Amino acid sequence: MSRKMLVDNGEVSQTNEEEAQYDFDLFVIGAGSGGVRASRFSANYGAKVGICELPFHPISSEVIGGVGGTCVIRGCVPKKILVYGASLGGEIEDAREYGWELNEKVDFNWKKLLHKKTAEILRLNGIYKRLLSNAGVKLFEGEGKLVGPNEVEVTQLDGTKLSYSAKHILIATGSRAHRPAIPGQEFGITSDEALSLEELPKRAVVLGGGYIAVEFATIWRGMGASVDLLFRKELPLRGFDDEMRAVVARNLEGRGVNLHPRTTITEVIKTENGVKVITDHGEELLADVVLFATGRSPNTKRLNLEAVGVELDQTGAVKVDEYSQTNIPSIWAVGDVTNRMNLTPVALMEGTFFAKTVFGGQPSKPDYKDIPYAVFSIPPLSVVGLSEEQAIEQANGDISVFTSSFNPMKNTISGRQEKTVMKLVVDAETNKVLGASMCGPDAPEIMQGIAVALKCGATKEQFDSTVGIHPSAAEEFVTMRTESRRVSGSGKPKTNL
Ligand code: NDP
Repeated sequence: MSRKMLVDNGEVSQTNEEEAQYDFDLFVIGAGSGGVRASRFSANYGAKVGICELPFHPISSEVIGGVGGTCVIRGCVPKKILVYGASLGGEIEDAREYGWELNEKVDFNWKKLLHKKTAEILRLNGIYKRLLSNAGVKLFEGEGKLVGPNEVEVTQLDGTKLSYSAKHILIATGSRAHRPAIPGQEFGITSDEALSLEELPKRAVVLGGGYIAVEFATIWRGMGASVDLLFRKELPLRGFDDEMRAVVARNLEGRGVNLHPRTTITEVIKTENGVKVITDHGEELLADVVLFATGRSPNTKRLNLEAVGVELDQTGAVKVDEYSQTNIPSIWAVGDVTNRMNLTPVALMEGTFFAKTVFGGQPSKPDYKDIPYAVFSIPPLSVVGLSEEQAIEQANGDISVFTSSFNPMKNTISGRQEKTVMKLVVDAETNKVLGASMCGPDAPEIMQGIAVALKCGATKEQFDSTVGIHPSAAEEFVTMRTESRRVSGSGKPKTNL
């Protein structure tokens, strides 16, 4: 008889009919950000922990796996390395105006960066494996699936099947890029392949207006490619503050990305000169690479969840309660596979709180309020709290909006025409800062500190009484004295451009 654990009104209660013997206290399927964090922290609380993950091939995208998960292997980390690489092109241009004589022709060697990036990922993959073994977590290299509420099966690459029982099972299998059902979609790629292309494309077409589309558009453009970005709405980055979306669009155009708003792809055709993209406006674009950045789907298909009775939502994500517990008390899930807020630090938070709840004796719910995040475009956009549209939707009273648009000091010498834009959204009655956003160099680095202020419930008055660091762009956040506009906090329908 299995031991059941239920979280009820913040109390952990255990119905322990008879003490069952399990191979593990916890078995985790998936060693990405959430799975590694949950397993290490659970082991630190004294639990006997096993975890399974597929080994990965650094270049091939055939195998979705690798200790470290999407973030380390085919997400945040390699992407950020490419963003650094692409940003340096603009920096070199700016450097000339600062007196640097770059007489020789400046070339970009994609293969060199690709190999360095792969080496770094292999290094991090090794570090993650060591983190697990140092915590006493037993790693099984293979694909895991559920066999019952307390049983998992791991299929190793040679086909050998291993079976283990566990008091608790944690599903942390993440998500994968999905391709739209467009004729010829097989001639396009997703972000998995985009991070490891053998050749840097000279012409790229990107479909989508989300994080990945915007980030890859600027990466490839920054490396010298001609880029066409196609998205369905009027502006990219649906869900972000509309004013900041317009800033990102302006910057993309300013850096030479060809924007195609209200556009999608109807067909992709392979030709001798590359892939031909037909748009719904009848336009034809020829490219070396077509990237589908049209969202990600939870990795739940091969886990045998239905057979065990684990409930999924309409997107195929594992349904969990506020403690990350599924409808089967011994089975839990964290990270992208639950489709709550699909960000690495959120998966880490959910993994931490899972361990605390189940093995730390302190039932704890993750707090999703005021989570900062960033789009690593060039320059980046970073936000925390509410957008102006969300504040208007949620508030009953008035909303005060403060904005600042300025030429960063560095641009005065380099001559670069690109404004940094900042925004604070304030509850006019309580003076509390509800949201902050910034698009400009170092925005994510600055926003992390602003997020602490919002988490502490800072008021605009407290922002104003903070002394700035001069000269910096960040000081604008504490010197925005003049209200840009005041808007009524109710009755405005949600904008969905
Ligand atoms: P997003 O969900 O952010 O964006 C998907 C985009 O694809 C939207 O613009 C959507 O358009 C468009 N789209 C969806 N289906 C179609 C279709 N059939 N035809 C044309 N366009 C379509 O997904 P991403 O793939 O960019 O990223 C996935 C997730 O990964 C993000 O939500 C984020 O959580 C995470 N991520 C985070 C990063 C970060 O923190 N910097 C970086 C990268 C990813 P529409 O708006 O019209 O629906």
